[in-house]
Amino acid sequence: MKNKVLILGGGIAGLSTGVYLQKQGIPSAIYEKNPVLGGECVSWRREGYVIDNCIHWLTGSKKGDTLNAVWRDVGAIDDSTAFINEPYFYRLRFKDVTLSFWCDREKARKEFLACAPEDSQEINAFFDAVKRAECVQVPTEKSLAKMGFIEYMKTGMSMRAMLPVLKAYSHISIAQLAAKFKNPHMQQMIRGYFNDDYQALILITSCAFYTSGTAALPIGGSQGVIERMKAKYLSLGGEVHLARPAASINLEKNRAVSVRLSSGEVVACPAVVAACDPEVTFGTLLSSKFREHQLAKMRSHQKEDYLVASCVGITYGIEGSEDYGFEPGSVSFPCEPFQVGTKPFDLLDVRLYDADPTLYPQDKRVVRVIILQGSADYAYWEQLYSHQEAYQKEKQRIAEAVLSRIETQYPLARGHLKCIDAYTPVTFNRYCGAYQGSYMAFFQRYRGKTRNPKNTVRHLPNVFLASQWLSSTGGGLPMAVTSGKFAADEVAHYLKKSH
Ligand SMILES: Cc1cc2nc3c(=O)[nH]c(=O)nc-3n(C[C@H](O)[C@H](O)[C@H](O)COP(=O)(O)OP(=O)(O)OC[C@H]3O[C@@H](n4cnc5c(N)ncnc54)[C@H](O)[C@@H]3O)c2cc1C
Repeated sequence: MKNKVLILGGGIAGLSTGVYLQKQGIPSAIYEKNPVLGGECVSWRREGYVIDNCIHWLTGSKKGDTLNAVWRDVGAIDDSTAFINEPYFYRLRFKDVTLSFWCDREKARKEFLACAPEDSQEINAFFDAVKRAECVQVPTEKSLAKMGFIEYMKTGMSMRAMLPVLKAYSHISIAQLAAKFKNPHMQQMIRGYFNDDYQALILITSCAFYTSGTAALPIGGSQGVIERMKAKYLSLGGEVHLARPAASINLEKNRAVSVRLSSGEVVACPAVVAACDPEVTFGTLLSSKFREHQLAKMRSHQKEDYLVASCVGITYGIEGSEDYGFEPGSVSFPCEPFQVGTKPFDLLDVRLYDADPTLYPQDKRVVRVIILQGSADYAYWEQLYSHQEAYQKEKQRIAEAVLSRIETQYPLARGHLKCIDAYTPVTFNRYCGAYQGSYMAFFQRYRGKTRNPKNTVRHLPNVFLASQWLSSTGGGLPMAVTSGKFAADEVAHYLKKSH
């Protein structure tokens, strides 16, 4: 082949596409807008501290899982990769009670029953559902959108233990699930991590990833994963061009013939994989008339059916190496209410980064707080961003408000934390082009319709999509990495057919 297949975007989806293309003997080149690879899966340094933007957990960390094989294929992990297993998914600390979604399911069940015996029926139903959900495997051979009826049924049957769980938890929201419990601590625990409007199912499956032991943290964090994937791609002959944003996909007779870069350079190609956010693909690179049908539907039904997932993130460096009472992983606690974006918050989720010695030496530990933001918040931040002084001031106000609440909860830490970075939904949009700053694509509301967008583009047979957005049930690394595999298969099929 004279020209290379062009991959636009060097996040997880783009790198995965590249590795799978090279493995099939199809030469490719990645063009990435930023000076580094990774997209949302990235980390950076501030004042000598590492800020890891992404990986809290890598679904598929357990050997034998379908997704584990994909992570190995793309070089993200191998037999020598060490993992950190956190003790719980998250923990909620009240004045007199602490509850944890322990990785040991029965330990968690026991703890919850001791705290809220009046809710024993709901607690047992919840943990029975988690146990059933431990069989869930991410489809890695074919995307749901491309499966025929029989394949779809077969996939369903392989996870038939999930059927009662789907029936009980996919049509209610997190808030409705919480309302089933009488105990106020239990109610807050259920609402402690995800948005009230998400399907309750997401809490069950997330807990199950932890209890089944497939949600560990790979050593080196997000950057480690990206470095290893990059090394794999280059070793297979792939080409990486950094700080080279694509400006448009040039079409002739309903075929992509080349890509024009922002620099003005035009690169010819036999096929293109748009591995950037679909907002960029159908907002900048191609006319919106080509927008994939299901993606278009998700956009037009967003208000009723889907939620974007973004955040305000505030990161603090811990000065000194003393024990200031922080606990491992994600810990939430009730706090004095404060406003962020369009809503008040009275629960703070604090995450300590200290378990990976390659990133966080004892005197360079980090604490991060994530405050979830949605569509209305994005509009708020976007507007504020156009007034830089006010935008910076607001970030500073939030950083100070959060700090005082952390210090109230962890008095030993008083005077030992300094804010090293603060970012908002606008940051994710500016950095990656993320639609409304959503770094986890769309989450389905509990009433929303499940949609499986295709990775092909109407009327353009040699343009393909790879992205976490090719799902309506929340994006994330599993969606991104498998979308690359599926896109590479489509390209191979197309090239074979067209020759
Ligand atoms: C705070 C946070 C925590 C997270 N935690 C987890 C977690 O614990 N587990 C999990 O599974 N997921 C997590 N995620 C989500 C995960 O990071 C994303 O799902 C995943 O990285 C998305 O990959 P992607 O390749 O689909 O998209 P992106 O990462 O958005 O990659 C798209 C790439 O395209 C590039 N691009 C954009 N425009 C152009 C252009 N014109 N030309 C060329 N390139 C372009 C972008 O710069 C970017 O590099 C988290 C994300 C965040 C932000």
